Amino acid sequence: MTPTRILVTGGAGFIGSHYARTVLGPDGPPDVSVTVLDKLTRAGNPANLDDVRHAPGFSFVRGDICDPDVVDALVAVHDQVVHFAAETPVDRSRPGGGGFVRTNVLGTQTLLDAAVRHGLHTFVHISAVEVYGSIRAGSWPETDPLRPNSPYSASKAASDLLALAYHRTYGLDVRVTRCSNNYGHHQFPEQVVPSIITHVLKGRPVPLCGNGLNVRDWIHVDDHVRGIELVRTGGRPGEVYNIGAGNEVSHRELAGMLLHVCGADRGMVRFVEHRRSKGDHRYSVDTTKIRTEFAFAPRKDLLAGLTETVDWYRTHRSWWEPLLSRACREPNDPNDPNDYERLPS
Ligand code: NAD
Repeated sequence: MTPTRILVTGGAGFIGSHYARTVLGPDGPPDVSVTVLDKLTRAGNPANLDDVRHAPGFSFVRGDICDPDVVDALVAVHDQVVHFAAETPVDRSRPGGGGFVRTNVLGTQTLLDAAVRHGLHTFVHISAVEVYGSIRAGSWPETDPLRPNSPYSASKAASDLLALAYHRTYGLDVRVTRCSNNYGHHQFPEQVVPSIITHVLKGRPVPLCGNGLNVRDWIHVDDHVRGIELVRTGGRPGEVYNIGAGNEVSHRELAGMLLHVCGADRGMVRFVEHRRSKGDHRYSVDTTKIRTEFAFAPRKDLLAGLTETVDWYRTHRSWWEPLLSRACREPNDPNDPNDYERLPS
């Protein structure tokens, strides 16, 4: 059987590496090969691919999705693209969106152009819930307008629209997924869940931005990856699929759960003000479409998933400790007074 050749952009990052590990793992499809294209920026880490480095059908290329020559040569010899590569996360985009627009918009366009040129079979564009903006009540269906609030989410929204426009203009088989907030092992320590865990494991105060009442729907990365695979293998061209788990909790509640799992005191939390933005209040996607079309249901219970994640960070200090210097400064870092200021207690 000729394998389906999948080009995974950003496959050395958090979700992309889970994806590569899953499709090349024992429960993955038997007929795929995977090439990871990754520039290895801050969150990109070759160690994330250790489990698949020697798997049959795996290869790695260090390169930039904005480089038309690299992209053209790779897209020409692949059947499908699963496009994770992006400048992340939201908070790093607030000082300025230049790098975000370059990678997330120009990089996506470079890939899409090559996909059209070479008659690529399927292009799965990985997007995020942030593109919808913020919602007080209810949940967004895929048909809701995009109202992004940060340079990160605006650049992701722009890339979604470009991808869908390439479907309408050129007939390219584009499928877009928009997922809620992910957690799990191998997540770069500056993100919310590993930031809380690693602060606790280091015995440091746990910084929480604002009043900690912002609400996110937390999904385990394995469930996200399963949703992506369903869309890659059975999704319809030109369609958008929301992916979420229905685990809506505030940052304050999330920190409480993680401190409990770690056996730490709630008094470790320090509320800090972020000068530039309070962040979106609440994200909530309506997942009726993916549940109806694929019988998709998240499998990982939030508390069980967080407990597994804490255990992994406990036993993998050699993975995350060297990354701390590359992660965002701590919000209460006295050497970084321009980014954050303490709230009065
Ligand atoms: P990540 O930052 O961990 O990984 C991004 C990867 O892209 C890194 O390996 C990085 O080196 C690579 N990269 C960056 N710029 C590149 C470039 N110009 N060329 C090639 N590679 C480049 O991010 P993540 O959390 O794994 O997110 C992956 C994708 O999933 C993103 O598109 C993100 O918007 C989306 N997403 C993330 C979440 C979440 O909660 N983390 C939720 C929904 C969707």
